[in-house]
Amino acid sequence: MPEQILHFINGRKVSGKSGRSGPVFNPATGKQSGVVPFAGEAEMDEAVSAARAAFPGWAGTPPLRRARILSRFLRLLEENADGLAKIISAEHGKVLSDARGEVTRGIEVVEFATGAPSLLKGEISENVGTGVDCHAVHQPLGVVAGITPFNFPAMVPMWMFPVALACGNCFILKPSERDPSAGVRLAELAMEAGLPAGVLQVMHGDKAAVDAILRHPGIAAVSFVGSTPIARYIYATAAANGKRCQALGGAKNHMVVLPDADMDQAVDALMGAAYGSAGERCMAVSVAVPVGKKTAETLVERLEPRVRTLKIGPGTDPEAEMGPLVTRQHLERVRDYIEAGEKGGAKLVVDGRGFRMQGYEEGFFIGGSLFDHVLPEMKIWKEEIFGPVLSVVRAENFQAATKLINSHEFANGTAIFTRDGDAAREFAAGIEVGMVGVNVPIPVPMAFHSFGGWKSSLFGDHPTHGPEGVRFYTRLKTITSRWPAGIRAGAEYVMPTMR
Ligand code: NAD
Repeated sequence: MPEQILHFINGRKVSGKSGRSGPVFNPATGKQSGVVPFAGEAEMDEAVSAARAAFPGWAGTPPLRRARILSRFLRLLEENADGLAKIISAEHGKVLSDARGEVTRGIEVVEFATGAPSLLKGEISENVGTGVDCHAVHQPLGVVAGITPFNFPAMVPMWMFPVALACGNCFILKPSERDPSAGVRLAELAMEAGLPAGVLQVMHGDKAAVDAILRHPGIAAVSFVGSTPIARYIYATAAANGKRCQALGGAKNHMVVLPDADMDQAVDALMGAAYGSAGERCMAVSVAVPVGKKTAETLVERLEPRVRTLKIGPGTDPEAEMGPLVTRQHLERVRDYIEAGEKGGAKLVVDGRGFRMQGYEEGFFIGGSLFDHVLPEMKIWKEEIFGPVLSVVRAENFQAATKLINSHEFANGTAIFTRDGDAAREFAAGIEVGMVGVNVPIPVPMAFHSFGGWKSSLFGDHPTHGPEGVRFYTRLKTITSRWPAGIRAGAEYVMPTMR
């Protein structure tokens, strides 16, 4: 019997009431493992009411006490990390070691958020006029919501809610309906850490639940991470409803390999960055850009046997380097892209479509694929595939490589592999992409920096976590006060100026 997954409202797990639900699968076996309820407007309203009721108490709790609860949450996360990784792997399909890595990256954001008292320090200017002081404080927004993608069911929610809570907001998480259980487990652990009921809630659902968030007047801000068409929709609709919004979208990340690069290092980096997590990472490298014919020939020659011998298996196999894709529909989509690449004239060096996983014939497995001679006019270069498919676009020189990257719609991450410091510096300074790696293939910033792309990879003014996360989840209040209060300025009818 598939497990009934529950919402988490006002500190309790509760069943859905809308009558709508969806299936959750184990991607390795292809069997349905759960049923997730889809929230409608009435249930969302219930969650928002509980959050609004909790807000004054939580916002008024001294930041240091909020930080202590987050510290307890941090310890519980560390103690329960393996259990969380199992939940992630069972619904997402990624291998356990990768799921464990995801939990660690999430924990780092909680670590950052435990610095709440320092993060929320304001500004003060003394004596801006005679006996007049001016200070600015960061106050929470109220009830905020986070809508998250399937590919990091624990880390992406943790990019958002620990920072939002540290700042004094209440948070409603709408996780991906494809792997919803990790979000519920996180909320349970946060409650165990001492978080008051109503401060963090988890509401499952599809577009109807998202629209209920976007329309609800009691929600002040929306954080979104997912694909670009939905990010664009979320940003426009949230703004039309008067909400603050940060919407992170899709990606097509290029890795430039210059002729002087350490080839062993570059090949290892490409294998992990292109095929780790079956390519279902927004920072996955999906395009390799070798500069010069010789670099390209060497790179493809070295990659080919490695791609053919990737160790693929269920997430529970400790030897596996890559698991299945998340759903059957996504598997079909990735297969269609490979077909489109072939038809479009790219050279398919390794075709992963023939791969069958013994004992898991119904699972959503596909082998790694490698394309050479991909051109910018091809669909497989223009669009995000989000699977274990690496495209090689050959560039004549450094300028052609950077021009190619700068011409793409997406601008999440990029990397350059070289021993030439001048070239690396020029690349980092000039490339029009939000996150850049120099001999680092997946340059995901640490929690105390902020994460976000440019162009169609981020809609809104603020990337996530780090200092930008604090800015997103707070609003500035500036207070001007005159002391001693007894000084009589008399009635002033002109614009006040400080003398
Ligand atoms: P998705 O856009 O399909 O779904 C994301 C969220 O939006 C889910 O919670 C889903 O329920 C909701 N949603 C889906 N369709 C909707 C609709 N029509 N209206 C309203 N809400 C809707 O993304 P996904 O497939 O879950 O995740 C993969 C995508 O996320 C990739 O494009 C990947 O690049 C992107 N991603 C980006 C980042 C980043 O930092 N930029 C990080 C992780 C993932």
